[in-house]
Amino acid sequence: MVAKILISSCLLGAPVRYNGSAKTLVHDAIDRWHGEGRLVPVCPEVSAGLPIPRPPAEIEQGYSGTDVLVRTARIVENTGRDVSDEFLCGAQNALALANTHNCRFALLTDGSPSCGSSFIYNGQFTGTRHRGVGATVALLQNHGITVFANTPDGIAHLEQALIKQDDALI
Ligand code: SF4
Repeated sequence: MVAKILISSCLLGAPVRYNGSAKTLVHDAIDRWHGEGRLVPVCPEVSAGLPIPRPPAEIEQGYSGTDVLVRTARIVENTGRDVSDEFLCGAQNALALANTHNCRFALLTDGSPSCGSSFIYNGQFTGTRHRGVGATVALLQNHGITVFANTPDGIAHLEQALIKQDDALI
């Protein structure tokens, strides 16, 4: 048995981002993990019924997904529409999928109000980043799933974690 990885579907080339684009991650490890049957793709926002394309959304200024989970912050589109419920639904869908496939690891798109794990945008739609996590990442982490960002360091750390997990599954 091999350890499974929950992965943002936009990283695998699916055109599901708010602007209808993908964020394809080209890396040898992705091809290898795909061949090994490890990858479990998910787009939390689309799973919750949000359309493609859709207006960009950010978490209220100064907050992160953790605050959205406890409802001290909201996620709003640049139109002003509150989409917190949809983002929470997407987070729950991602967690359910991870549990179904027994994923202990996730590789998710950094910067997203759902999938961001090291930074998100500050809620002002000015392109300004701050440290924080998206709503899906907050829920996954609260349930013991380790989330890695789509960066060279993130992939390297995930490779190390997989080696240990595969050894434990033997
Ligand atoms: Fe990609 Fe996650 Fe945004 Fe979906 S919610 S488009 S998987 S970053």
